[in-house]
Amino acid sequence: MHKTQIIILGIAQDAGYPHAGCRKDCCRNAWHDSSLQKFAACVGIADPESGSYWLIDATPDIKFQMHSAEERFPVCRLKGVFITHAHTGHYAGLINFGKEIMAADRMPVFVMPGMKKFLNENYPWKQFVEMGYIELTDLVNDAELKLNERAAITPFKVPHRDEHSETVGFEIKGKNKNIIYIPDIDEWDKWDRDIVDTVRNADELYLDGTFYNGSEIRNYHSKKIPHPLVTVSMEKFNSLSREEKARVNFIHLNHTNPLIRKDSMETEEVLSRGFRIAEEGRTTVI
Ligand SMILES: [Zn+2]
Ligand SMILES: [Zn+2]
Ligand SMILES: [Zn+2]
Repeated sequence: MHKTQIIILGIAQDAGYPHAGCRKDCCRNAWHDSSLQKFAACVGIADPESGSYWLIDATPDIKFQMHSAEERFPVCRLKGVFITHAHTGHYAGLINFGKEIMAADRMPVFVMPGMKKFLNENYPWKQFVEMGYIELTDLVNDAELKLNERAAITPFKVPHRDEHSETVGFEIKGKNKNIIYIPDIDEWDKWDRDIVDTVRNADELYLDGTFYNGSEIRNYHSKKIPHPLVTVSMEKFNSLSREEKARVNFIHLNHTNPLIRKDSMETEEVLSRGFRIAEEGRTTVI
């Protein structure tokens, strides 16, 4: 258990599962059965050798996610948070570092320039910076940042409704494996890289699987909430070998997405086609 590894700490869209205000069948059982509940999408990078772990995104569920990481890696302490973008499910958990909760001492928060501007210019985040609860550390697009001699992380820009900040995915590199994490993207074809080649060149990927086929929300309109549908992604990945398909894990699942429920027909379909669905608690040695 001393090896550097990633741990999946949340697989749901920003809202988590169940979804606030949802009275429909998709969430019905999850309100009563905590074993069905899921946290907002989050990946941890744990390095027991140095007693460190890092989170990708500060979700509204961060306290439970920190607890899960620390329970799994008791020697590890949180050494920083990398933020993908300024949509609430990805940064609102920073609230926990403030005076009323942890009163953290300059917790490193790694951000791209647009995200940095957003946090520096808006309350309460601006005050968190001024009071020294968080310390913003610059990320540069496509530039690798070494966490230590065993792990490195690289942000890369992806197209997404960038109202308040740019959006990035991350590549996490260990000594033996590289992992790609893209929880939010508008469309694979709008990206300046080829997603199929990206799958071929990675060991494991966690990719935007927000909606299954669009029929799940009555007013789904890809222009308003654009995400690559899982059915469309699976078609796109059709030319990949069985071994390559098994690297793809769908994540950031909306409450309406049947993949968030293990017993759905759609879950069976995705697995039978050779793809995977991200699972909380799963670790991969990198
Ligand atoms: Zn999101
Ligand atoms: Zn629901
Ligand atoms: Zn988003």
